[in-house]
Amino acid sequence: MTTTSAFLKGKKALVLGGSRGIGAAVVERLAADGATTAFTYSGSKDAAEALAARSGAAAVQADSADREAVAQVIAGQGPLDILVINAGVAVMGDPLEIAPADVDRLIDINVRGPYHAAVEAARKMPDGGRIIVIGSVNGDRVPFAGMTAYSLSKSAIQGLVRGLARDLGHRGITVNNVQPGPVDTDMNPADGPLRDLVHPVMAIKRHAKPAEIAGLVAYLTGPEAGFVTGAQHTIDGGFGA
Ligand code: NDP
Repeated sequence: MTTTSAFLKGKKALVLGGSRGIGAAVVERLAADGATTAFTYSGSKDAAEALAARSGAAAVQADSADREAVAQVIAGQGPLDILVINAGVAVMGDPLEIAPADVDRLIDINVRGPYHAAVEAARKMPDGGRIIVIGSVNGDRVPFAGMTAYSLSKSAIQGLVRGLARDLGHRGITVNNVQPGPVDTDMNPADGPLRDLVHPVMAIKRHAKPAEIAGLVAYLTGPEAGFVTGAQHTIDGGFGA
């Protein structure tokens, strides 16, 4: 059973990339914990509207690769207590074959987007605010070929949270990286092609449910996590153990 309370009542939260998967679970969890929650989406309008209807969160269309569009959404929310940067894409395959434009777009969404969004939100974030980025265990460990661009982008998030935690610590703002292992979403379905590759090397041989990742995010947003910053929080069923 998931236990929640309204410990985020009075807080304003924005989740970038919240229409599906881990982001949608985070939206539902933050709204259930009492935060006034908004989220962005890119292409999944129907899923975004359904999530807004069931969670009470507000949906706003904005491509995370578009710095100006995301900055406008952030400015439009007013001061944010919580920013969760979840939007991410994966481009897998032989780097000698992958189209350079696909890698550039991945870097725009997975690296440039998080940097600029975090900085824009920090401008007006009150003291004690929370910035959380969804990275990946592949920021630490790349056990298969074909993941170079993706793992590059997730390693970059580690540096982002370390640096920004230093820059914002004097305001009591925490900046953290949540690094999931395999999670059952459209990006990596539990019955998809990665299952037989990754389950044998895990201590807990299954994909996570998105709600399990949202639980760790919720902890990091809460009052007990004010001393947790600049850190990488791996939640991977022992994938990297
Ligand atoms: P999904 O592909 O299932 O969902 C991705 C979400 O991000 C969707 O809501 C999508 O919105 C949004 N998104 C993607 N691109 C953009 C964009 N350009 N602008 C705005 N929103 C965007 O992915 P997951 O839920 O699996 O992944 C979420 C995060 O977790 C990613 O950063 C991913 O790298 C990371 N992760 C996932 C793991 C897994 O095994 N699933 C493991 C480790 C990390 P829309 O559909 O509207 O475009």
